[in-house]
Amino acid sequence: MFLFSNIQQYHIDLIAQRTSCTIAVEHYLDAISKNNELNAFVEVYATEALQRARELDEKRINHNIKGKLHGVVIALKDVICYKDHKVTAASKILNSFTSLYNASAVQYLIDEEAIIIGTCNCDEFAMGSSNENSVYGIVKNPIDQTKVPGGSSGGSAVAVSAGMCMVSLGSDTGGSVRQPADFCGIVGFKPTYGRISRYGLIAYASSFDQIGIFGNNIADVCDVLNVISRTDEYDSTMIQHDNEIKFQEKQEKKFRIGYMKDVMEHPMLDQEIKTAIFKRLDSLKEEGHEITPINFDLIDYVVPAYYVLTAAEATSNLSRFDGIRFGHQSTSPVSNLNDFYIKNRSEGFGKEVKRRIMLGNFVLSSGYYDAYYSKAQQVRKMLVDKTEAIFATCDLLILPVSPTTAFNLNEKAKDPIAMYLADIFTVFANLAGIPAIAVPLFKHTNGLPFGLQILAAKENDEILLQFSNQIFTQ
Ligand code: GLN
Repeated sequence: MFLFSNIQQYHIDLIAQRTSCTIAVEHYLDAISKNNELNAFVEVYATEALQRARELDEKRINHNIKGKLHGVVIALKDVICYKDHKVTAASKILNSFTSLYNASAVQYLIDEEAIIIGTCNCDEFAMGSSNENSVYGIVKNPIDQTKVPGGSSGGSAVAVSAGMCMVSLGSDTGGSVRQPADFCGIVGFKPTYGRISRYGLIAYASSFDQIGIFGNNIADVCDVLNVISRTDEYDSTMIQHDNEIKFQEKQEKKFRIGYMKDVMEHPMLDQEIKTAIFKRLDSLKEEGHEITPINFDLIDYVVPAYYVLTAAEATSNLSRFDGIRFGHQSTSPVSNLNDFYIKNRSEGFGKEVKRRIMLGNFVLSSGYYDAYYSKAQQVRKMLVDKTEAIFATCDLLILPVSPTTAFNLNEKAKDPIAMYLADIFTVFANLAGIPAIAVPLFKHTNGLPFGLQILAAKENDEILLQFSNQIFTQ
């Protein structure tokens, strides 16, 4: 019987020979097959993962663990390149496409002796909040299978939540790590923009995209972060940082914590979530933290600004998928090159991706550019300025992750606007490029989990993780 609590304990058990990497991998392969109906995995590398586990077990001679992530069983969202393995962004247009190289994050995992067990289902090209836009079909929430797991990294969240791997990677452009983590009751972390190399991450909206980490606890997230956030010459947008996150188990620092009044009073916010967060803010005050309400009257502009800008970037990023050198090629007769592009792309992309490509072209087209794209850029600039002002007086900001707990499958699938609006509390961190985390703390009377979203100033990932650990382990 294999039991996983955290990476550190797993390493202690490996050294004491109470378990082995092979036992761990066998356990997770079994869990993956038992949870097949959740549809969390696209590919499972059973033979390969077992082989690697055996090699690592043999290598651990003299009870030595060399790699920082020795034997850690990890799953990847199907937008992260793993050399010689399929990567499809859950899209027909990349049907059977094989990665030619490793994403830098993946290379760092391998260098530190992690075991990649498979790739996870997600919304097509990471566009969605429910994991209902995938060519591989919907993913189900393991806590209640009538609910969505969240998206777009739904499969990666479910893989950790249902115990099918130790940690997993997702991508977060507007909440795709934090929101599914919240819906599935686990930790989901999006670092400062530029902390993790985006080399080998299939682009959705490049000035927003970040690889994020799912885990059962903050310590595991930190361990993975320290490995995959190494600097990388292949991503020129990376911030220069050579500091490893220092993780002290029992810290009792006092912080200046802000909360946004306009967010907490927002009509979309579930009453029970609101009450739980206010109660938690009260207890933090009693523990000696300074709690300050903040005005944030820009809240209703964040979703429109986010969707205008990300659609514009997506339009450009997805123009490379034309079926000429790689990807889906139509077999129906075509009369000219343009017709060929049209057929390949019309057949290859799903409905939501097409909607965004059209929206992006619209907001970038002459005549509308200033009214939409430039305006949204101005809103982004105002948000960045506001963020700086907030963090001049606060160390941390607390808000809900999502207005509700996990919603019903099919509830919003036919209403894209309702789906977009539900991203109201997560997109801000990506517009501002700041680190953000979802920490699971509460249970709703409907039986579903929810937690707190905590934000910090740019590059203050360490403070964010230390505080998160403080409240998580209390
Ligand atoms: N739900 C948001 C969207 O559809 C966020 C997606 C993401 O973070 N990848 O754009």
